[in-house]
Amino acid sequence: MTLRETLASGTRSFSFEFFPPKTEAGERNVWDAIRRIEPLAPTFVSVTYGAGGSSRDRTVELTKRIASDTTLRPVAHLTAVGHSVAELRRIIGRYADAGVRDVLVLRGDPPGDPRGPWVPHPDGLTYAHELVTLVREAGAFSVGVAAFPERHPRSADWDGEIRHFVAKCRAGADYAVTQMFFDVEDYLRLRDRVSAAGCDIPIIPEIMPATDVRQIRRFAELSDAAFPQELARRLDAARDRPAEGHAIGVEYAVAMSERLLAEGAPGLHYITLNRSTATLDIHRAVMAVQAVTA
Ligand code: FAD
Repeated sequence: MTLRETLASGTRSFSFEFFPPKTEAGERNVWDAIRRIEPLAPTFVSVTYGAGGSSRDRTVELTKRIASDTTLRPVAHLTAVGHSVAELRRIIGRYADAGVRDVLVLRGDPPGDPRGPWVPHPDGLTYAHELVTLVREAGAFSVGVAAFPERHPRSADWDGEIRHFVAKCRAGADYAVTQMFFDVEDYLRLRDRVSAAGCDIPIIPEIMPATDVRQIRRFAELSDAAFPQELARRLDAARDRPAEGHAIGVEYAVAMSERLLAEGAPGLHYITLNRSTATLDIHRAVMAVQAVTA
């Protein structure tokens, strides 16, 4: 079954996100995490696409190696930023040659300053929906796109946000994965708005284990995700006791995940940061509850 068919069949998906490591030690970490996650037979694992240069090649190489050396289904993130259409076509071709048939299509942010002005490549694309069309035209790929439960930071209002999201569906997106968020209501409101606009692709919520307050604040600021004060207060109080911080973050993510699944979310997409411990703890706890309630 293709990922498109799996998700369309209503099968609950669970998946894990990695980034391409820069060092040999990082390479060992990511492969250690991949090998620990592999026996769980997730629906897919995804590999983020770097902001530029050599990290982009590392994305392609890691994705291809997952396809060739594991039993996992890799989803390659691909961004439009800084690429001509010809370059994008070449990368898509490299994936096709390696048997990678799943791409998560994104516009990307300006390199250097993600909040800086967006300048399209002179021979490139401006919005993600154009890249959805390009990948679709390139062959039999399943295509995912990004969704933003708290609205994309560049969107002036919700009407525009939803209209542009629906444009990605109309261009052929099969599913979406959200930005990280910490309030389930934000996800449910987004899903209802998208559905009211006539788009019914599965929107998979992204789960970020919030176990380290310093790290999570940095990520939340970068992604404009509101970080709940009470969770921040508890994590702050445990900042010098990592095991306690871990337990607090796992407990919060498990509660969020259970509520999301109870509300009909089509699955869960875990950010791993190339480590497996917190995500595996969350996933096992969620699966244990699912098994009891099934
Ligand atoms: P788009 O859908 O093009 O939207 C960008 C902005 O333009 C939005 O405000 C939208 O409303 C607006 N817009 C869209 N179409 C139009 C139009 N026709 N007219 C006017 N305005 C329009 N970044 C990376 O660099 N690498 C990654 O691997 C990566 N992975 C990600 C994974 C997930 C799950 C998510 C949620 C984000 C990821 N990102 C990644 C970040 C992403 O690239 C940025 O958030 C980017 O700013 C938005 O990408 P998009 O695909 O949503 O863009």
